[in-house]
Amino acid sequence: MQILPQKEGAYFRMRLTDKVKDARKNKFYGSRYANYLRNIYRLIFSNYLTMHLISIGIPTLGTPQIERQGNCTLLRNMLIGKDFHWQKSIEALLPGEVELSDDPTFTIINHLPIETYLRCVVGSEMNPDAPEEFLKAHAVISRSWALGKIIGCHQAGSEGKVNLSDRLISWDDTADHHGFHVCSDDHCQRYQGVQPIPASTLKALESTEGEVLVDSKNHSLIDARFSKCCGGKTEIFSSCWQDKDLPGLRSFDDPWCDLSSLSTNARYSLLSKILKDYDMANDGGFRWEASVDAADIRKNLKEKFGRDIGEIINMRVISRGPSGRITELQLEGDKGILRIGKELMIRRLLAPTHLYSSAFDIEPIHSQPSNGWNLRGKGWGHGVGLCQIGAAHMALSGYSYRDILSFYYPGSQISHI
Ligand SMILES: [Zn+2]
Ligand SMILES: [Zn+2]
Repeated sequence: MQILPQKEGAYFRMRLTDKVKDARKNKFYGSRYANYLRNIYRLIFSNYLTMHLISIGIPTLGTPQIERQGNCTLLRNMLIGKDFHWQKSIEALLPGEVELSDDPTFTIINHLPIETYLRCVVGSEMNPDAPEEFLKAHAVISRSWALGKIIGCHQAGSEGKVNLSDRLISWDDTADHHGFHVCSDDHCQRYQGVQPIPASTLKALESTEGEVLVDSKNHSLIDARFSKCCGGKTEIFSSCWQDKDLPGLRSFDDPWCDLSSLSTNARYSLLSKILKDYDMANDGGFRWEASVDAADIRKNLKEKFGRDIGEIINMRVISRGPSGRITELQLEGDKGILRIGKELMIRRLLAPTHLYSSAFDIEPIHSQPSNGWNLRGKGWGHGVGLCQIGAAHMALSGYSYRDILSFYYPGSQISHI
């Protein structure tokens, strides 16, 4: 594979789609000409475009409010953190080409070269002041992941559901999107358009341009997942998505996200370097506590899952993944029993938005389940693949991005596309 100049790619796409759109509108050319152009477009450029342009579905708060600003499009009401506690609307400057979509959830589709996308993602996912080696590691995994989505080789985690009267096990993955490759929210990778990136960070990203993570035995692309904090041990793929495990994503102890040996100032300094302001609500998520009310569980079960088993009397862990994340949780109500999984569904069930993770122990409040339960948890997110807080700690301790990647993705190596 070969990276072609980005401007050329964007230009070709714009020119061709504009011609197709003109042809559609123009009575003189009619549909035959439009079809002809579309076929040419497919034959000559499909391979090139498939490999190097990415399309992103973007949700908006209400009708999209857009205006042209230089070479970019200013989107005034981009919705971020949908259904999470940080949900809000922001202004975003979108590079590349923007089109309105028919999808009621993702009203804007943004097409742009993959390297431009990565610059925006690294800027959107974390603080641009993050350590250089951490940013480089993130650029490599974000590129590997995005490329996997474009060429469709990561279908392993597609949507699935077991919907029985006493068992509701479901998961959804990024393969669910139709009409675009990835969405702009945390479901895929956080993308918020052009981000101010310091020159030093840009240099770090450019130094990894074209680098992806592959399996060192068969050279296939690693499905490079990542989450905020594994909680001390990484999780396997099947605990979160489809019932199969991927060789590049294993479970192992991670000593790096435990920041308890650092002083309060050093810990705050590390977290503020990698998390955006609205992510600073907790202490990195290594350990956390929450309480949950029986009536709230019943309400969430009804509203989010359409099920009612009466008053919730007890909760019991049926299975856990190797990191301690609960993969199946049994709810016992006065009208029936229901098992819920996998980890994201459990997180949705036990909090108004999402619980930090499904790795928690359950204790009844005042020894009476009817009073609710205290949850003692660890980790933030699914815990599969790279642990962002651990990786940042490694980078600040002097490790290179290659060290970081070989630690979090054992059996992988860096390859050039
Ligand atoms: Zn998505
Ligand atoms: Zn970790």
